Amino acid sequence: MRVLIAGAGIAGLTTALSLHAAGIAADLVDSAPELRPLGVGINLLPHAVRELTELGLGPELEAAGIETSEQAHFDRHGGFIWSEPRGRGLGYAWPQYSIHRGELQMILLAAVRSRLGPAAVRTGTAVTGFTERDGAVEVLLSSRPNGPRFSAQADVLIGADGLYSAVRAQLHPDEPPPNWSGVMLWRGMTEGPPFLSGSTVAITGSTTSVKFVAYPIARAEPGRVLINWAAEAMVGGSVPPVRPDWNKEGRLAEALPHFADWTFDWLDIPSLMTRSPEILEYPMVDRDPLPWWGRGRVTLAGDAAHPMYPIGSNGGSQAIVDARVLARCLSAAADAEAGLAAYEAERLATVNAIVLANRAMPVDAVLDMVSARAPDGFERIEDVLSAAELAALRDAYRATSLQDVAALNARPPIAPLGAGSRRACTAGRCGSSAFLLG
Ligand SMILES: Cc1cc2nc3c(=O)[nH]c(=O)nc-3n(C[C@H](O)[C@H](O)[C@H](O)COP(=O)(O)OP(=O)(O)OC[C@H]3O[C@@H](n4cnc5c(N)ncnc54)[C@H](O)[C@@H]3O)c2cc1C
Repeated sequence: MRVLIAGAGIAGLTTALSLHAAGIAADLVDSAPELRPLGVGINLLPHAVRELTELGLGPELEAAGIETSEQAHFDRHGGFIWSEPRGRGLGYAWPQYSIHRGELQMILLAAVRSRLGPAAVRTGTAVTGFTERDGAVEVLLSSRPNGPRFSAQADVLIGADGLYSAVRAQLHPDEPPPNWSGVMLWRGMTEGPPFLSGSTVAITGSTTSVKFVAYPIARAEPGRVLINWAAEAMVGGSVPPVRPDWNKEGRLAEALPHFADWTFDWLDIPSLMTRSPEILEYPMVDRDPLPWWGRGRVTLAGDAAHPMYPIGSNGGSQAIVDARVLARCLSAAADAEAGLAAYEAERLATVNAIVLANRAMPVDAVLDMVSARAPDGFERIEDVLSAAELAALRDAYRATSLQDVAALNARPPIAPLGAGSRRACTAGRCGSSAFLLG
């Protein structure tokens, strides 16, 4: 079986590695002229770290990222509301990592090139459409926007081509543009001394006005870390002021006024923002969950299948789990169509529920409650939230998260390497195939 993957982001590269581990050949095309370590920080949940560890990338993640120990919530004056342990601190057998999104992509890319071969990823090549016939997919490609088209034959096409997926657009032609939450998101990174535990994801403010998230994503020179930040402001309106684009440069002058006096004894937010060499802006969008992803020999994965608000650490994490389930289903099924149908049946409802849950982050509710009750700040959180409210919050959080910890720790691996695939992969280079350009 020969699989063509549209998009060499987190979803596409992890899918290629997972297919390779299952003994299935894969090629990737990406519309970007070259793959560079773009973006800022993301969080990888233990579910995703487990999958990458089982793909043999645990040491690379550990070296590149910061193991997240806790998530702590504060009001817009820096007053501590509550915190919860994360990753291994909560009992997961795998850590949670805060990591640079582009560095993660480069780790995956290096593994793809080393395992599938240096030509496995063809950049500067966009998928523009496809036709399925005679038990194969003819994939239409273009090396520049509106340039001449050529084609490649594949047994399966996976659209891992992100928010504006061309594969999704052909499968679901009547979809409206992405939904806007009304929130503008500015992102940046700068070096600084570690703050709080040294491995805390700190969330301050409220969702109804302005919110700031900061966490370290890499070790820097001795005694310093690379700090990732995301500043959110509810600006409202029915359409975003700019087209959502992860690489769009933002302006400090627009973001900083919302946070000008957010200088706390544990973090100086204006300084973090002004010292960042580059600021990116992104209107927070998602798409409504789809009733189905693919048909026949074509499917979707990652953001192409389920773009969601970039909060809650699920964008990259769910893309990685998609990749693993997809590879297992394709390798286990009698034919490609059955494999893709099994993948969709296993993943669609779960991920659609996460897209919807991200629209109303339950952990953010406490921020809004505190901000409404004590807009000018507080001395003691017990003066704002009753002991019963605080206990209910902790109990609700622990009940769901501990259930999840137990389930992940007990679950067998998604994709055990079968004896057949192990033989196929060690006998020669497995997974790389020069696909046919016609
Ligand atoms: C440049 C960039 C920067 C990002 N920065 C952040 C960030 O700072 N924080 C955050 O939370 N999330 C960021 N994201 C989104 C995040 O990577 C995803 O939400 C998540 O990791 C799921 O990844 P994905 O592989 O499904 O999608 P993506 O990471 O979006 O990858 C999709 C890939 O498909 C390629 N592509 C698009 N159209 C085509 C086509 N027609 N044919 C072939 N290839 C195509 C793109 O070039 C891209 O490499 C960024 C995405 C990109 C592309």
